[in-house]
Amino acid sequence: MPFSLAKPSLYGMSPEQLAEFLQQGGFPTFRAKQVLEWMYRKRVASFEEMSNLPKPMIEWLRNEATLSPNEVLLTKKASDITEKLLLKGEDGALIETVLIRYPQMGVGSESSRKTICVSSQVGCAYGCKFCASGLAGWKRNLTDSEIVSQFLHVARLEAERDPSPSKQSVPFDNIVFMGMGEPLANYDNVVSAIRTLNAEWGLHFGARRITISTSGLVPQIRKLANEPIQFRLALSLHGASNAVREKIMPVNKRYPLEELIPAVAEFSKKRGRMLTLEFILIEEVNDSYDQARKLAHIANELHAHVNLIPYNRVEGLPWKRPNIKRQQAFSKILKEAGVSHTVRKEKGHDIDAACGQLRLRHEES
Ligand code: SAH
Ligand code: SF4
Repeated sequence: MPFSLAKPSLYGMSPEQLAEFLQQGGFPTFRAKQVLEWMYRKRVASFEEMSNLPKPMIEWLRNEATLSPNEVLLTKKASDITEKLLLKGEDGALIETVLIRYPQMGVGSESSRKTICVSSQVGCAYGCKFCASGLAGWKRNLTDSEIVSQFLHVARLEAERDPSPSKQSVPFDNIVFMGMGEPLANYDNVVSAIRTLNAEWGLHFGARRITISTSGLVPQIRKLANEPIQFRLALSLHGASNAVREKIMPVNKRYPLEELIPAVAEFSKKRGRMLTLEFILIEEVNDSYDQARKLAHIANELHAHVNLIPYNRVEGLPWKRPNIKRQQAFSKILKEAGVSHTVRKEKGHDIDAACGQLRLRHEES
């Protein structure tokens, strides 16, 4: 049986659905606009705070609906860069969201760039060998409201810390679907959540600052290319040949590079914007010069930007990152081939930056 919430969450409703829902309780449709204001502009945490609604309506909402379908179990902060929120779903499922603050050169910390990294599933079925999220297997998809509510929890947390008049603007600069789970395996809920994030009646967040990261589900990538909202795509490549990729990513057997590359090429052609290729550097797995040359070839073919990510150790797994010299040599090959790329600096390594680890630890304890 697929998971469903005990009561419908308003975060999963479009304005039309909300109006229809309120009508069931005998409330006029203009109330929907007020409720949306409370949800996405003022971002209140409860129905009680929606102070311009009549008391009976608040009572009705309390009985018939849910606002946040998950609650914050704990927040864990490391240095001043990364912070994790561990959320608990109605069924006890643990969901994690990460807020990353990149300090900007020469400006005060209050103007750092903030990226929020959200989860799309509980666990993951794709079982990449290096990834903590895949270790415990797949539990369930998150509902669209459970995805949207991750942003609202973070927004409220930020507003509590900085209750300045500007708090009604969305307090982050980028959204990435790089937490737990494979977003394209929960396609409809992810696209529905993005609609709410992007819509004027919702969080009104620019589509170009939203990135979906995928391990490479070919049919869904092709479908995604036709979605009207112009979000970005990042492909977790991690291997520049089938032989290397399928050793660490079982999904490559189902969708090998000769099918995957044309699908992402079509996506970037339709969207007319640059794709990102993520490439975790793992010692003696994918860090050879041959892999670097093959990666450069793929990146040039796709006009893609490459994000090199030195591997974050996962307890219980044998992999580790190559030393700095090796990372630099790899990067040099890309540079000489004219490939635009960055080497990602560690963010919050000390609080288990890699996906899924906080959740795993918590479940163990
Ligand atoms: N399932 C999607 C999105 C979630 S994973 C995907 O695979 O793209 C987000 C990113 O974190 C992916 O690029 C993934 O490969 C990477 N990742 C997973 N474990 C990691 C680790 N231990 N160190 C560094 N990056 C890791
Ligand atoms: Fe799933 Fe992505 Fe982790 Fe692979 S890297 S197991 S697809 S979350």
